[in-house]
Amino acid sequence: MSEPANSSREVWRVGGALTALVVVVAGAMLFWFDPSEFHFYPVCFFHRATGLLCPGCGGLRALHQLLHGHVAAAFRFNPMLVLSLPLAAGLALRYGRPKAWRQPGWSGPRSGWLWLLLAVWLAVGLLRNMPGALFAMLRP
Ligand SMILES: [Zn+2]
Repeated sequence: MSEPANSSREVWRVGGALTALVVVVAGAMLFWFDPSEFHFYPVCFFHRATGLLCPGCGGLRALHQLLHGHVAAAFRFNPMLVLSLPLAAGLALRYGRPKAWRQPGWSGPRSGWLWLLLAVWLAVGLLRNMPGALFAMLRP
């Protein structure tokens, strides 16, 4: 009867290893190829279709700056991404680690927190498209 538990743990370990590999390869690409200079990166379809900024616009350029240790430059490209990364990393570790090492599980954040985070992301997405100098700092 322990076969499904071992199999599930193995799936989480392999999934975690594959995710780590993808993150390392993507991070290496972002480190060596600046999205401001190289245009093989995916284009934001929302921005292309509407001319407006979505909450994720500037994210690749922000990650490139972060990988070079330029936090202020990264913040200028996408402040919500920079502020959200520690939270996302913490959630990924807290949620994924117990599954991979069969520790007592955590069911994830409460849905109210996720709705609040989504609301903040959407609000920033709206504000960065508003005219005026006050919101200019939210634009890449
Ligand atoms: Zn976008």
